[in-house]
Parts: sequence; structure tokens; C-alpha cells
Amino acid sequence: MPGMQKGDILGHEFMGVVDEVGPDVKNHKKGDRVVVCFDIACGSCAYCHKGLHSSCSTTNPSGDQEALYGLKSGGFFGYSHLTGGYEGGQAEYVRVPMADVNCLAVPEGMPDEKVILLSDILGTAWHANEMGEVGPGKNVAIWGAGPAGRVILIDKEVYRLEYAAKKVPGVETLDYSKKKVDAELRAMFGDLQGPDVCIEA
Ligand SMILES: [Zn+2]
Repeated sequence: MPGMQKGDILGHEFMGVVDEVGPDVKNHKKGDRVVVCFDIACGSCAYCHKGLHSSCSTTNPSGDQEALYGLKSGGFFGYSHLTGGYEGGQAEYVRVPMADVNCLAVPEGMPDEKVILLSDILGTAWHANEMGEVGPGKNVAIWGAGPAGRVILIDKEVYRLEYAAKKVPGVETLDYSKKKVDAELRAMFGDLQGPDVCIEA
């Protein structure tokens, strides 16, 4: 990953129990269980006001990312100095800036295994589906058998394809190490020439 430095701590998806809060934190207290957004938002810039937290214009000081891409994202936890050099969650403790904006309190009774997905992966999948206008009657091809996702799941990791087929009723799978993806998709959808929506998960 570009922008990594010796000693950086990875881990952009995490949750935990609040151990200490800064003087400006109003919504959380010691002992609260929280899930943390992977992107770091200030909550007050123009992008944050539009709900575009991953584009926050104040939390990523990286000049390299701007030079590489022309624009830059907001800060991300555990994602190298390209996204601000914030230490990630693969540690005993992690500091969460602007905790009122970036922490979500977890209701009692909700297991960690379900809530942790809110940190990044569930929101990312939801966003892709919204952008692709996925809905009833749409044919969807998904590259990469993550937990995101007529749905055709394309991967070469057999255990992921088998897991998805078992867990998601009606999902079809395509192993790209054994079959030609383009020809298979065209054959599957006939006159449509392919799926309506393609998502890289
Ligand atoms: Zn902001």
C-alpha cells in the first residue's frame, strides 16, 4: 500500500468499548460500546454537510494523494499516510478524532459480529447498489465474493462462492478460473447481452 511508514498500525474496520473521552465529546462516555466509521469526518465542512463524509475536506493532510489523483479523500483509519496516517484498529487502543461524528452507539443486545459490518463493508455494498439503481427485475453481476451482494457472483475462491450460494437464496456463482466470464454472462442473459448492473465488490 503506498504511503505506509514503519510502525503504522492497520485496521480500518473496528468497534470497541470507550475507555476515555476528550473534553469536547458530548454523545459518548466511558463504557459505551461503539462501532467506528472507517472514514474520519469533521462534521462541519461543506462535504460533511452534504453527508459525503468520506470526502471530508479537513481530515486528510496528505499532499501525495492530491498530487496522485488531483483531489483527495477524507482521512481514513489504518490506511497509510495517503489518507492521513491515522492509526487503525489492530491495536489494544485507538484514538478516534471527532468522536461525536465518527462513533455510533451500539444498542444493547446486538452482537459484535453484526454491528462491525456497519464500519465499512455494509455501507460500501449499500452505496454500490444505490449507485447501480439495483432493484426488482435488475440483473446484477458482482465481481468479488465479499458479503455484499438475478445476482451472479464472480470469484475464483471456491469457499467464498460455496458460502454465498448456501447463505443467499437464488444467488448464482461463476468461477472465473474455470470459465470465460464475458461469454458466460452473455449466455446467461441471452438477448440482454449481459447484466444490467456490474459491481466490483
Ligand atoms: Zn468534513
